[in-house]
Amino acid sequence: MAPAPCPACGGALRPWRTVPTSDASLPGVFELLRCASCGSAVTAGAPPTFEDAHDGGSYATRRPRGSGLAAPLLHAFDRQRLRLLARHGARTGRLLDAGAGRGRFVAAAAAAGWDAGGMEPAARGVEAARDVYGVQLQRAGIEDAAVDPGSVDAITLWHVLEHVEDPPATLRTLRDWLRPGGLVLIGVPNVRSLQARIGGDRWFHLDVPRHRTHFSPEGLARAAEAAGLEVVAFHGVLLEHNPFGMWQSVVNRLSGTTSYLYYLLKRSAPLRLRPLAITLASLPLLPGLAALELAAGARGRGGTMVLVARRPR
Ligand SMILES: [Zn+2]
Repeated sequence: MAPAPCPACGGALRPWRTVPTSDASLPGVFELLRCASCGSAVTAGAPPTFEDAHDGGSYATRRPRGSGLAAPLLHAFDRQRLRLLARHGARTGRLLDAGAGRGRFVAAAAAAGWDAGGMEPAARGVEAARDVYGVQLQRAGIEDAAVDPGSVDAITLWHVLEHVEDPPATLRTLRDWLRPGGLVLIGVPNVRSLQARIGGDRWFHLDVPRHRTHFSPEGLARAAEAAGLEVVAFHGVLLEHNPFGMWQSVVNRLSGTTSYLYYLLKRSAPLRLRPLAITLASLPLLPGLAALELAAGARGRGGTMVLVARRPR
């Protein structure tokens, strides 16, 4: 049987590298294949079940450690996402956050004047959105959601596309929801980033086996175009995931552990002295690595990227 083609561009996939899981709740070593045409990569093998991958472990919706302290930072992340929309002319109307998690961004968009909603397949996300933010999410995956065609002014697809099995099908669905001229922001990790190169098989944003497609900018643009979307812009200087991802990738590389602090904060790693000591000793590296990451992002090599695309008028 011929191997499946690249989900981003349809090119040929070849063996690339093996990668250890970062999450003790999903143990194993996973093979990555890479596309000879667009440079995107794919996690080989069957995906984990939805319950294992997204309703437990670090994705369980218990309150993360330190989340009260993080609130101002989370507001800043949401404001940057809203500014990206505004910069490309989307300031008002109906907004959907597809794969809305706990609904935090839907609440932020509503507070900024959008008629905001979203859908989320995980029951615990929908419950947390209602209880924490007073947001009513539609409990559905993108393929099953009830949205009228051509009814939406803006969609945010934030760290969702790397999780789906058929990215072009997901993008075609979003395109159909948009009114002509409507915008979609697609945020995903960038496999061509500087931090991906530094982190190697312990790059923070690999997150195998949850992440199925590891997009290059070229692959993401081709997938969007194949779905009938028009590429408007790329952004790579992003506060939300990038400086932390660079620092964590360096710590992973130095310590031989994978994202220990992240999973400790998400309450899915036990308290252990050695990785904690290495992590704490690496904290002074954070400002310098954040500056390095922002410089890389300005050159299109940020750890995550946002593609802004439009349904043609
Ligand atoms: Zn490809």
